[in-house]
Amino acid sequence: MDRQVKLHFLGSGTIMPDPRRSCSATILEIPKVKILVDIGAGTLRRMAIEGIDLHSIDYIFITHFHPDHTGDLAPFLFALRNSRPARTGRLLQVWGPAGFFQFVRGLEQAFGKWLQFSAEVKYHELPRRLLDFPGFRVIWSKVHHTPESVAYRFEIENKAVVFSGDTGYCPEIIRLCKAADLAVLECSHPDELAVKGHLSPSLAGKIAGDAGVKRLLLNHFYPEVLKTNPVEVVQKYFNGEAALANDGDTIAIPLEAVQKKP
Ligand SMILES: [Zn+2]
Ligand SMILES: [Zn+2]
Repeated sequence: MDRQVKLHFLGSGTIMPDPRRSCSATILEIPKVKILVDIGAGTLRRMAIEGIDLHSIDYIFITHFHPDHTGDLAPFLFALRNSRPARTGRLLQVWGPAGFFQFVRGLEQAFGKWLQFSAEVKYHELPRRLLDFPGFRVIWSKVHHTPESVAYRFEIENKAVVFSGDTGYCPEIIRLCKAADLAVLECSHPDELAVKGHLSPSLAGKIAGDAGVKRLLLNHFYPEVLKTNPVEVVQKYFNGEAALANDGDTIAIPLEAVQKKP
């Protein structure tokens, strides 16, 4: 099978209930590794609908602590705990920004000690800016939303995919997106209703244009922005490929073929 980086959008929406758009959650699949970026309320059910086994997830990376990005973390772990057969021998690493350990302790106080139920789940707070994992590298940057908010750049061989999480327009996200093969940027509100700490189509377009990304996918839509044509606005600032991400969409970026030894 062709080697590729695959994105599978489980949730392209916000906390505002929408039958077609669940809260933030995207699977980034690279050879042999499945990463879940954010795990908003509703992610578990979206995984069931898309036929994705809980046990297949190797990493969860959380951008910030708002419930539309973390709401199904405790349910996910509770489901793992109660699943038969149990998860054995396969580590799940859950990474979050500064304050994540305290966040997990808060969940334990609310739900019980089972959150530390096994050796198969390990929580991490992001340390240095560049983290190397088997098969991929993560570079993260603080962005302008909540005090802990970060955006992630995943580098897989010579491909780069950036997830903004929630952010306002800021130099940090432009730097992180530099020449990325794909940027997934939030697009919460139309330009005329833009608020601090979130992007509008113009701001997302400017970031994509300034950073010279190859492809832009917008997500995290409040209802008003969906009544407009965000891509048309984006194209004033960005002449690459731009589109709205939808729940269930899959996007593949081919990786270079491995040279077979003669
Ligand atoms: Zn948020
Ligand atoms: Zn959000």
